[in-house]
Amino acid sequence: MWKIVFNAALLTLGVILVGQLISLSVRWLYDEPFTGFVMLMNSVLPLCTAFPAGLYIFWQNDRLRGALTALEEAHRRLEQRATHDQMTGFLNREAFFERLKTVRRKTDSGALLLIDADHFKSVNDTYGHQTGDRALKLIADAIQHAVRAQDMTGRIGGEEFCAFLPAATRDEAILIAERLRAAVERILFEPRPGERRLLSVSLGIAMADGERTASQLMREADLCLYEAKRRGRNRVVSARPKKLVA
Ligand code: GH3
Ligand code: MG
Ligand code: MG
Repeated sequence: MWKIVFNAALLTLGVILVGQLISLSVRWLYDEPFTGFVMLMNSVLPLCTAFPAGLYIFWQNDRLRGALTALEEAHRRLEQRATHDQMTGFLNREAFFERLKTVRRKTDSGALLLIDADHFKSVNDTYGHQTGDRALKLIADAIQHAVRAQDMTGRIGGEEFCAFLPAATRDEAILIAERLRAAVERILFEPRPGERRLLSVSLGIAMADGERTASQLMREADLCLYEAKRRGRNRVVSARPKKLVA
């Protein structure tokens, strides 16, 4: 409020000064006397007009600025809701693949990790969906901690996650995937007080190059994931494309 009054006062002062200057010049040109009364009127009139007008303008300006900030915040929240999974804070499926396109335009090479929680239906069936949600959040945290700062993570399905590791070589991708798998295995998940349930994930890795599309990468990662499940779960499979992809 004080800022509005101060700005209006400053504006009024400016108007008075300019008014006095113009009045003085005109009176000097026409050889008219510049009396105290004229000076007084040159000050009182702006005080009665410019000051209230300034107050109104600066008040409206302030309101508009507040509305704009609220609008920007609402837009940011809406965008966050549209692109992120509320439970884990990861990118949702659409946003993940959309951003994957952008990342791949900058960095051709890298690795796509497809991560699926093992026997998750049984977690839900045994302890209930809410407890299952708690386990999913813990898995998401472990994934986020295991990947590098520049990597991109997404929740692409119920208990399925994806990570893209830009510029990672196959060896680096396997190292990160193993670190991630081990981190999930170490999660201290207590579905009920005093009861511990081991969690695990299986991972499939697909290596990106400039030529392969996102859906081809997903297909390859999915085949590797399927192989990891087939071999007993809680493992990483990164087969060479020729072995798995027809
Ligand atoms: P697999 O090792 O073969 O992946 O077995 P799975 O039980 O994990 O796989 P399946 O596809 O049979 O079941 C997936 C389960 O994940 C079933 C579903 O209830 C659960 N699920 C999916 N989304 C959510 C979720 O948002 N919250 C919870 N609590 N459970 C979920
Ligand atoms: Mg699963
Ligand atoms: Mg699944």
